[in-house]
Amino acid sequence: MSPTALQASRHVRVGVVGSGAAGIATCKGFLDAFKAAGYKNRGDNNDNGTNTFDIDVFEKYGTVGGVWDYNERINSATTSHPTTTKTLPMYKSLRTNLPREVMSFPSYPWNRLPSAEGRSYITHSEVGDYLKSYSQHMGLNKYIRLNCEVDNIKFDMSSSPTKVVVETTSPNSSSPTSAVYDHVVICNGHYEAPSVPPSLQCLSSTYVSMHSIEYDSGDDHKWRGKTVLCIGGRASGTDIAREISMAAKKVYVSERGAAVEGWPGKEKVEVVGGTVGMDSTSTQGILLEDGRVLNDVDMVIFCTGYDYSFKFLSPEVGVKFEKGERRVGPLYKQIWHPEHPNLSFVGLPHSVVPFPLFEVQGRTIAEIALKGWGEVGKEERAREAQSDYEGMGPSGRRVEDTHYLGDLQWQYTREIGVMGGFWGEEEDRRNKVNEEIYKRAGMERKKGKIGGDDGYRRMEFWRDWEKHEWGVEK
Ligand code: FAD
Repeated sequence: MSPTALQASRHVRVGVVGSGAAGIATCKGFLDAFKAAGYKNRGDNNDNGTNTFDIDVFEKYGTVGGVWDYNERINSATTSHPTTTKTLPMYKSLRTNLPREVMSFPSYPWNRLPSAEGRSYITHSEVGDYLKSYSQHMGLNKYIRLNCEVDNIKFDMSSSPTKVVVETTSPNSSSPTSAVYDHVVICNGHYEAPSVPPSLQCLSSTYVSMHSIEYDSGDDHKWRGKTVLCIGGRASGTDIAREISMAAKKVYVSERGAAVEGWPGKEKVEVVGGTVGMDSTSTQGILLEDGRVLNDVDMVIFCTGYDYSFKFLSPEVGVKFEKGERRVGPLYKQIWHPEHPNLSFVGLPHSVVPFPLFEVQGRTIAEIALKGWGEVGKEERAREAQSDYEGMGPSGRRVEDTHYLGDLQWQYTREIGVMGGFWGEEEDRRNKVNEEIYKRAGMERKKGKIGGDDGYRRMEFWRDWEKHEWGVEK
């Protein structure tokens, strides 16, 4: 081989934090981009002239799948720490709140998993199995380092371009390990740090209370004969209220417009407005926003969401995430560190269909990592990141909605895919079909139209989806 060929060969090292849906989709994105650009895994390569790569996906638990890995994680948590409270947001009976037809990764349609038998709203273990199956099918497992926790991430400013240092601990090694990466993608999820608004925290000192992350089952004797206030009535809040209403004496759902039609224990459920806090002036009950005071509450469940949390990020990295603010930034397009875009995030946007978005974000990060930023300069990225941060994100509504996308997700997904250079007509068709199904599913959920204990979850979308799948009439 000539000296020129030797010089030209390049080695790219990638670190990914987390092996939930976002982490494995990102790993696949890098594998696809490396393959398209002719790179080989360093371990498999015998030719010194070829560009090579390494990918390390760090996962602090012992399995792949993140929050969907309920069975494994609940068992390991209760076996190793029998007295600790539950720290996994999924609960025993959970079924998806989106139909699987839209949830699936575009590269791995859900009909490859026969267990769901046409049902659209499936169980947590079916989703967990799907993610494991995806990881295996795409050849990702060999890159995943289980039981390896990332403790610290910082920049190595002495190298040019700046590299990223990742420090990890694992039960197999007695001391922390440090490694340097060209690119690091953070996919640590955002359902680990329960959030309760400051104005409501005082309820915890007066009432028996818990956050929805601690909830596991409505069968528990602790609900029997009790009056329970569930604060927050989005997907988890209404599921939890419905389950405990079977055993409880009464359940208040504090969320205007929450749909309770068709619930078996409906006569015991009352939808009330927002909760303000303790009523300090008169009865010491719980004050609602319409001035009503609840004096009969025994227990409070905070279904009030989660904070973004990145305890492993060194302060010098310059990414802000304040407790209670529910935003991270400033970041370019909700993904890249503006100055050092070799540090990026997948999965920050919420109120989206997550898996397809993760695949697009992961692949685009990988494509840009290999091909560069073209015309988009550091100043432009910094300006736009700052304006997105100060302007409270695409919706511009409130600080805590900085990462809210909702109806804007289809346009956002497209924009990110176009940046990656792989978005075409096929992707537009899939995006459109997903948008249609997502909107119909959302309308049914709001109406609570179909009776029975699972309400909207009786809808089946697979026929529509098969007809439309990827826009091809069958
Ligand atoms: P996670 O699944 O949280 O994965 C993050 C991974 O990072 C975890 O494995 C974690 O152990 C690991 N990790 C974190 N920190 C470290 C560290 N320092 N070092 C190493 N590893 C680390 N989505 C849907 O599409 N449909 C639904 O019906 C749906 N229902 C939901 C219901 C509930 C109750 C919740 C909480 C979420 C629901 N979601 C649903 C959203 C769900 O979060 C996403 O589907 C998706 O699974 C998120 O994937 P993730 O990889 O971003 O995060």
